[in-house]
Amino acid sequence: MPNFSLPDTVFEEAASRFPTPFHLYDAEGIRKNARALNAAFSWAPDFREYFAVKALPNPHILEILKEEGCGLDCSSECELLLAERVGITGNRIMFSANAMPPSEFDHARALNATINLDDESDIDLLAAHGGIPEEICVRVNPGGDFALGNMIMGTPGESKYGWKNEQLRPGLLRLKAMGAKKFGLHAFLASNTTDNAYYPRLAEILLETGVKLEKETGLVFSFINLSGGVGIPYRPDQPAPDIAAIGQGVRAAYLRILGPESRVAVKAELGRFMTGPYGWLVTRAVHEKKIYKDYIGVDACAVNLMRPAMYGAYHHIHVCGKREAPCDHVYDVTGCLCENNDKFAIDRALPEIAVGDLLVIHDTGAHGFCMGYQYNGRLRSAEILYLGGHDFRMIRRAETPEDYFATLL
Ligand SMILES: *Cc1c(COP(=O)(O)O)cnc(C)c1O
Repeated sequence: MPNFSLPDTVFEEAASRFPTPFHLYDAEGIRKNARALNAAFSWAPDFREYFAVKALPNPHILEILKEEGCGLDCSSECELLLAERVGITGNRIMFSANAMPPSEFDHARALNATINLDDESDIDLLAAHGGIPEEICVRVNPGGDFALGNMIMGTPGESKYGWKNEQLRPGLLRLKAMGAKKFGLHAFLASNTTDNAYYPRLAEILLETGVKLEKETGLVFSFINLSGGVGIPYRPDQPAPDIAAIGQGVRAAYLRILGPESRVAVKAELGRFMTGPYGWLVTRAVHEKKIYKDYIGVDACAVNLMRPAMYGAYHHIHVCGKREAPCDHVYDVTGCLCENNDKFAIDRALPEIAVGDLLVIHDTGAHGFCMGYQYNGRLRSAEILYLGGHDFRMIRRAETPEDYFATLL
């Protein structure tokens, strides 16, 4: 079930103070959720969540997560600069990039970030750009399909990320010869899964691989990084993942494989789970059209939220003030792009919508605003942080035509 914790008065007050469209983020919701995650893994030695910056790259949000003890997972120059801007450096940064400009290794090493190597060829690149550190992370790709029971959850064999199994031992031995002393293992095998068995199964794979590689290489196995992938319930009939149960599932795998005395640390790089349900795109119905179907045009479009157009992703929509009204109308909810995939919903049962109604599109707190673009000369919206009561803070202004022209020579 999507997040209905804020009353419509909050969205209405925000829309009376800031022009639509905008993304609204609930600071308290993000905090509570971060605390639940940290509590679920409080048993683990040195547990740390490295928030995947790409999911919601706004320093005001990163500050909140920093206050809750999180580090940051960065994978580009600008994401490293964002980390610096909020005062996060050293091993509070996980640098998990692939096929990036080598200078980004120099930058990450200068910050003393923990480096997650995506490929064995990155060994030489890193040696030439910042040097091989004492502790290094390696991204594992076991290939084939990734299954939980008889459900295929992901297809690592089709994914561009990580090292083949056979590359791990020789690669780690090279890293050892070049000065590495400790290693961690990282993998991301399924995206947006609400199945509580995902993290425990992934932990099992990484822990077993790590124990084996520790024996084979003589390097110290120091951490696992479970990366992202824990999903959120975008659909009304979808259960939320149970983070306490996930923590206990990982713990059971940890105790079985390493035992209670182990100091191997556990890290995560969740993005979607941390902020997704705590953001909403607030937009107004500006147009109604009846041809072969009924269309409601809103003042947001795919440049403000790309997932429906790009992946056909479901985002729940509700109409402010009509939560209890019967959903007895069927609409396509569209933006204004001259591109027919610019639809937030297709054949969606909703209450009757009038021009002027405020629509709330759910679960835009991760991979929402940040995937935005400027196609058709449409501009990125503002981001508003809701701090409870009547306290709203604009944490990014909307773009203006001046911004659109700023890069032209
Ligand atoms: C995108 C990404 C994440 C976060 O993924 P979510 O699905 O948002 O949890 C974590 N780690 C890496 C390396 C990523 O690229």
